[in-house]
Amino acid sequence: MNVKDIIIIGGGAAGFFAAINIAERHPNLKVAILERGKEGLQKVKVSGGGRCNVTHAEFVPSELVLNYPRGEKELLGPFHQFMTGDTIEWFEKRGVMLKIEDDGRMFPITDSSQTIIDCFLNEAKKHKVEVLYNESVKQIALRDDTNDVDHHFKVETQSGLFYCNKLVIATGSNPKIWKLLEGLGHSISPAVPSLFTFNIKDDRIKDIPGVVAQNVEVKVVGSELFSEGPLLITHVGMSAPAILKLSAYGAIELAKRDYKFEIEINFIKQSFDDCLENLKNLKQELAKKTVFKSAQFDLPKRLWHKLIQASGMDQETRWADLNRHQLENLSSQLTQAVFQVDGKSTFKEEFVTAGGVELKEVNFKTFESKLHKNLYFAGEVINVDAVTGGFNFQNAWTGAYLVSKAI
Ligand SMILES: Cc1cc2nc3c(=O)[nH]c(=O)nc-3n(C[C@H](O)[C@H](O)[C@H](O)COP(=O)(O)OP(=O)(O)OC[C@H]3O[C@@H](n4cnc5c(N)ncnc54)[C@H](O)[C@@H]3O)c2cc1C
Repeated sequence: MNVKDIIIIGGGAAGFFAAINIAERHPNLKVAILERGKEGLQKVKVSGGGRCNVTHAEFVPSELVLNYPRGEKELLGPFHQFMTGDTIEWFEKRGVMLKIEDDGRMFPITDSSQTIIDCFLNEAKKHKVEVLYNESVKQIALRDDTNDVDHHFKVETQSGLFYCNKLVIATGSNPKIWKLLEGLGHSISPAVPSLFTFNIKDDRIKDIPGVVAQNVEVKVVGSELFSEGPLLITHVGMSAPAILKLSAYGAIELAKRDYKFEIEINFIKQSFDDCLENLKNLKQELAKKTVFKSAQFDLPKRLWHKLIQASGMDQETRWADLNRHQLENLSSQLTQAVFQVDGKSTFKEEFVTAGGVELKEVNFKTFESKLHKNLYFAGEVINVDAVTGGFNFQNAWTGAYLVSKAI
């Protein structure tokens, strides 16, 4: 009979972090990870384009939570217990130095996710965590159902039965496990993708992939969804934080619209009227110059050219020639340009699934189920997800750490 004190289902980021911290605190307990793959930590491996964006240099809990479209309120308490600073210290103590990039993202100084994987595998070995691969969990039964007086849980994999008294679910966004949890009475918020880029076919962005507008505002027409930040034009549409944030905050709404909707972009973060005033002044100042060759508002030249064309001007049009209608058209293109989104694409650096165990069923002091004692959750299995930047892993580290503390 396979009897363990603590079983962690899922050998990903949260599973390893929980197992290592539990085993370190309790060297006398038998701690085992059941991982369905022949290797674990596969998402860590590919994360951050192979560099693993471990966390983010945001050290104020009330600011950090603002990056979680789902989980903002619930994570505030947990972040007061285990934060980004604690993550940095945890890794440093184990010989993994992290560095901060200009945008706040933090990576191992080696720029390799293998450093994180090696650290976890070494720590797991050091603290005698048993990592059992090729063990896909098919069934979870509670003591009440098994009439087993000795063990709280019976876990069934394709190869056999495992028994334990404390069970940690760290299976990420796995629909089969969500089904099993529903069987145990938990409610699961429906899963939809988050962190994706927008597919847009439009002459204004045709043939200019790689162009970046540094600070734009984007609204989803007919909704409250809004974001700001850099915007990148890609081969198939638009990406970068302004878009990715919208995809995260709008994950549910945009799925309902089947990823077909309009966005309105303000490329220069000025009102239409202010922009029009500025354009009128430029008409005086730059009268003899061509509009085409005098890009304004720090916009990349290639994007400026496209917006000029879309406003009905050609390469020879001079500022002095602009009539009121053309000035208004240009102001409109600069401050309220509407684009039709038709579908989404995967953002290869990072993606997550919104949805999972309903947050009202989790005790956020311990990450224990409110329905079943001794059943814990960590990572993406619960209905928490974040914008891009290392925040998703931070959720995994924080949850897993608090589970280990509670246990
Ligand atoms: C391409 C990509 C890049 C990313 N980059 C970043 C990044 O740089 N920074 C960041 O913060 N976030 C990133 N993320 C998000 C981050 O990877 C996840 O939020 C994080 O891995 C969640 O950790 P987890 O342990 O909850 O789930 P996972 O890491 O998905 O681990 C779950 C584990 O459970 C196992 N499992 C599932 N079902 C069963 C079962 N029935 N029985 C046994 N085992 C099972 C799986 O095989 C897996 O190993 C990225 C995601 C992707 C897809």
